[in-house]
Amino acid sequence: MTSKPILFNMTPAELEQFVTGLGEPKFRAKQISEWISRGAPDFSVMKNLPEPLRQKLNDSAQTMPATIDKRLESADKQTVKFLLAMADGQKIETVLMRTSYGNSVCVSGQAGCAMGCKFCASTLLGLHRNLTMNEMIAQVLVAQWELYSGANSRPISQKPNGDPNNNEVSHIVVMGTGEPLQNTENLRGFLEYANSKLGISWRRITVSTCGIVPGIAELTEWARPINLAISLHAPNDTLRSALMPINNKYPIAEVLDAAFANSEKTGRQLMIEYILLETPVGANVNSPDLCTNSDRANLHSPLRNCAPEQAVELAALLRGKNVMVNLIPMNAVAERDFAAPSGNAVHRFQDTLIQSGVHTRIRRERGADIGSACGQLRIK
Ligand code: SAH
Repeated sequence: MTSKPILFNMTPAELEQFVTGLGEPKFRAKQISEWISRGAPDFSVMKNLPEPLRQKLNDSAQTMPATIDKRLESADKQTVKFLLAMADGQKIETVLMRTSYGNSVCVSGQAGCAMGCKFCASTLLGLHRNLTMNEMIAQVLVAQWELYSGANSRPISQKPNGDPNNNEVSHIVVMGTGEPLQNTENLRGFLEYANSKLGISWRRITVSTCGIVPGIAELTEWARPINLAISLHAPNDTLRSALMPINNKYPIAEVLDAAFANSEKTGRQLMIEYILLETPVGANVNSPDLCTNSDRANLHSPLRNCAPEQAVELAALLRGKNVMVNLIPMNAVAERDFAAPSGNAVHRFQDTLIQSGVHTRIRRERGADIGSACGQLRIK
């Protein structure tokens, strides 16, 4: 792995010093920094620099603390998944989603994940490490470069924000691998940078958590008007603990209290994520992946969270609050013995929630064909 200096987090003065150290005039620093802010992956793309200088820079420096190892595009070309290699060899995933409301990047906050949720691919190999603030910024820049280099027209500064045809990242969702609220200091640094330097409005940033209560409280204290999403996935503690071990530490009531307090402070609508899943007929309910024997004894077997009674139970937790429930039919994960319920069951669950007075929508999944949909991210 390389130990070349990384230019992207240098101050203007440091960059000038670096450039003059190579025997080049100062103004090159400004040119380089413009390319870096568009996400240039290396120096060869910096067309306004003379070729010998590009060579010299490629030999002596790196633009970013990440390189693209693999790039996968969905059949409809709206979603691109990147496998990125960090300087120490760690690999992570980032997803760019082109949507009707703008360009959204799904950022990972950790390499791997320690949370052990029973339905998710990201946790299968455990946690490797927290990502640094710069490694999170780099993910947005990689997506930015994809948009910039793919668009051949106007310069980036002239593109209107929110225009679906534009070539700027407009939204960030911290919903990649890892638990961002186990890495709050770097997360906050990253989001401050995204807001102040990349111009992404707080209201277009969403952080998703499995329910780390002190982390939610920290965000509340921080008080930026970002959107908070809670991965709830079950309407009671017995089922939630079986699906998500973190619930043993932070049960539903505590998580929701912290989340409602956050939404009251920021004024933003709380998002509740709820995967709809069930154990398929014929599945091995004794699979160690599902849950422990004692959990199983407390549950109806096979495991499911999508019956209409469960929608009623969920509504009772949320009614009267400023929340939107995002229903996510389970995305397939080869090692996990869960499946999405039928389309009818999904709609019945949604209707029951709506009749119980809770705003709900079904999340449109993106990039399932390239393994980039929710819960499918892993190093692949
Ligand atoms: N650790 C954070 C960030 C990950 S966000 C959190 O838990 O919120 C990824 C979202 O995808 C979470 O809501 C997660 O629960 C959901 N997810 C995980 N596995 C999934 C699967 N197989 N199908 C659909 N959604 C899944």
